[in-house]
Amino acid sequence: MRHAFFTFFLALALPLGVFAQDKTVKAVLEMGRTDNRTMEHAEYIARNIGGRLVGTHMLNHAEDWVAQQFRSWGLEVTVQEAVEIGVGFDRGPWSGRMLSEDGMVLHFGTPAYTAGTCGPQKGRVLLEPKNQREFDRVKGALKGAWVLLETGATNGLAIDASHKADSTRAALLAEGKEGSVLMYRQMVDAGVLGFIRPSKLPMQVLYNRACCFDLTMDNLPKACDILLDEHQFARIRQKVVDREDFQLEFDIRNHFFPGPMKHHNILAVIKGTKYPDEYVLMGGHLDAYDIATGSTDDGQGVSVTMEAARLLAAAGARPKRSIMFCIWTGEEYGLLGSKFFVQNKTVPWDKISNYFNRDGGPLAATSITVPPAMYDDFAEVCKPLADYNPEIPFSVIRREGEARSRPTSAGGSDHAYFAMNGVPTLSFRESDIFGCDFIYRDIWHTEDDLFDKLIPVYLEHSAVVQAVTAYGLANLDHLLSREGLYKD
Ligand SMILES: [Zn+2]
Repeated sequence: MRHAFFTFFLALALPLGVFAQDKTVKAVLEMGRTDNRTMEHAEYIARNIGGRLVGTHMLNHAEDWVAQQFRSWGLEVTVQEAVEIGVGFDRGPWSGRMLSEDGMVLHFGTPAYTAGTCGPQKGRVLLEPKNQREFDRVKGALKGAWVLLETGATNGLAIDASHKADSTRAALLAEGKEGSVLMYRQMVDAGVLGFIRPSKLPMQVLYNRACCFDLTMDNLPKACDILLDEHQFARIRQKVVDREDFQLEFDIRNHFFPGPMKHHNILAVIKGTKYPDEYVLMGGHLDAYDIATGSTDDGQGVSVTMEAARLLAAAGARPKRSIMFCIWTGEEYGLLGSKFFVQNKTVPWDKISNYFNRDGGPLAATSITVPPAMYDDFAEVCKPLADYNPEIPFSVIRREGEARSRPTSAGGSDHAYFAMNGVPTLSFRESDIFGCDFIYRDIWHTEDDLFDKLIPVYLEHSAVVQAVTAYGLANLDHLLSREGLYKD
């Protein structure tokens, strides 16, 4: 009897460390099923806030909200200023119609940081003059007119109205070239209301990349830059060719205001108990284009990151090393937030086990492929995920074949500057495992990046995957090995 008791207590005492870890993981898994709030975060970001462009008040509001949420869960929060833009931009409603017997309602968008109309503006429509001779023929009619530009497919960026682009156009004209947009500056000076370009659907609408950082309140854009449904564009063009008498009316509330507007990375930490200066990082970007609501790009990445943080905090996680949840700013303007974080060595590069970036579709994290030297660690840490949801099995895959070279240029998303500096940025493979027909191209920077495109079961699952993996890695007694991470 005595012997049996002794064995019982020994069995209880020995795996105590393991048992404590399991308790946190168990709590995360349980809450992940019964009290998963990923979609609450996503809904607030997409529906209550909406578009979150650099330079807008809504992005600042979103930053405040994210920081306040993290604090309410008991995390330490650092607000890191990373972006400044001289002139602010807020978008109001926009509408347009054809003033003729059929009264077509126009389906269009305008890149951010382009001119609005200051109330409804109506005008006749002209085809674009493509050389000096054509310009001279119509110049008297350009004032107060809308001009159709027959450009090829647009990528949603504004017409480049910079001085540099003006001199390129002037040089081409001087060589006797002709073509679309070449007479841009002359048309603006002649007093056109704006330009209309055809857009494929779903419409992709970005911003005034060439000029937005150089704007002052004294040199704001004057002519509107409208991207119109290509089918409507074709109908309108035909009417112009047929010399029909009609006007278009647009009411575009694009508001500029004096800055500077400052934007911030929101960095929340669960502090490590043993190695507080070593980190596992995860993140997504809060800024988004503003014609839709940035629900997938990257509201979902932010929501999954936030929920991973909340689950761990609520489970009372006390990992050995720190876990940092990074909500980046300025990604769409050139990875500005994460670049600032990395280049300023906010966290020393050699103290990061991995940075997990989430900025893809609203899909389920179903596997991760890792270099051989990391395999055993990941296999152990991800064990509880293998059958967490039998319908969404999770696996750790040992990388076969040679490592890739370390990237030398930035691109893609917020992992880029980490990777360029040798920090591991392994990421989960995200799958549309139930066949929900999600195609990233449909939402990527388009008017369709809306809340209803999100797939709750995938996002909720991914929050649990990220929480459990980050916690497990943070609890190892070593940083992840970088052996064989890159070819060099
Ligand atoms: Zn993105």
